[in-house]
Amino acid sequence: MRFADTTSSIAGDSPEARRYNRIRRWLEMGDFLTGLAFMAVLLLTGWTGDWRDWAYQVAFQNYQLAVLVYVFMLMAAGKLLGLGLDYYGLRLERRYHLSAQKTRSWLWDEVKGLLVGLVFATIIAESLYFTIRQSPEHWWIYSWALFLVLFVVIAQIAPLVLFPIFYKFEPLDNDELKQRLVRLSEKAGTKVRGIYKWKLSEKSNKANAALTGLGATRRIILADTLLDQYSADEIEAVLAHELGHQVHRHILKSIVVQAAVTLMGFWAANYVLHLAIEQWNMFDRLSDFANLPLMVLVATVLSFVLMPVMNAYSRFNERQADRYAFKSIRSVQPFISSMNKLAAQNLAERTPSKWVEWFFHSHPAISRRVAAAEAYQPPLAMAARR
Ligand SMILES: [Zn+2]
Repeated sequence: MRFADTTSSIAGDSPEARRYNRIRRWLEMGDFLTGLAFMAVLLLTGWTGDWRDWAYQVAFQNYQLAVLVYVFMLMAAGKLLGLGLDYYGLRLERRYHLSAQKTRSWLWDEVKGLLVGLVFATIIAESLYFTIRQSPEHWWIYSWALFLVLFVVIAQIAPLVLFPIFYKFEPLDNDELKQRLVRLSEKAGTKVRGIYKWKLSEKSNKANAALTGLGATRRIILADTLLDQYSADEIEAVLAHELGHQVHRHILKSIVVQAAVTLMGFWAANYVLHLAIEQWNMFDRLSDFANLPLMVLVATVLSFVLMPVMNAYSRFNERQADRYAFKSIRSVQPFISSMNKLAAQNLAERTPSKWVEWFFHSHPAISRRVAAAEAYQPPLAMAARR
């Protein structure tokens, strides 16, 4: 639910921005292919079986503990393989003056990211193989149900537990802005539970904003890089967009869409696992956790194939939030100027090529968002009030 697509790829109009975004896309693809190749090598060489045997030895032949050890090995090796590309990503941000983060701070983030990843991977793997052992027939439906619970829990705790691991947050202390937000949300007939300043500047020079959390943890976060450099009218436009996500219940809807995709994923994983056991003789049984790389492979390929669909859905939501912003602010001009500022500050492309937008972008191209704002006709009653 970010305000703009900044961490993923937006290519640029200037040669500099175009080059930056092209490299970013290649980095993403490189990262994806490295992960894919890693899983494929483990499976094709049979090393995954050796790793499973080592895990059993380390775990004194205890199944649950062995799953944990195996997950640790997988995650650690994956991290080592991807570290070079990650570091290149940091160098890229620095080269284009988009970040001044020190290597030590970056490394610490990497360590924290790995630890958080380990916690989630362990929970997922243990519950996966638990359901497989309990119900080899219907494990994929039970696992899916468990995943749903996990989605909701993560969405709820993320603003309180996950984000603060990487960034500092504090309640917004700007009274004028708070007043404007209260007025905006009253107009929307919805309640904003909190608005926070997100100290992004320690890590990045890019600006961003987001609606995060679910239920009681639902809140709008505004990057300090945005608060410091945008006018009150522009920040209000950004807030109105985020409020649009809330009014249209986009977080909840995204969880529902994610649930449908995940069900497909589990069905496919079950199908491929049975093939691997019955046709390819790769494993003896479902509960052999050496098959974990195969499940990861299925999930990765599926998410890649579905990426354009998911991004199209996201762009639909973003357009809806934009339209909400147009009608709730007095003039679309601050929206347009905030978009232009954002594009310049984040080295984003206003007009990416059609296929790049279609495949990679979770947000409509900035040129389209600006064009939509310019074309917006307020209802007559509202126009009269201006
Ligand atoms: Zn948005």
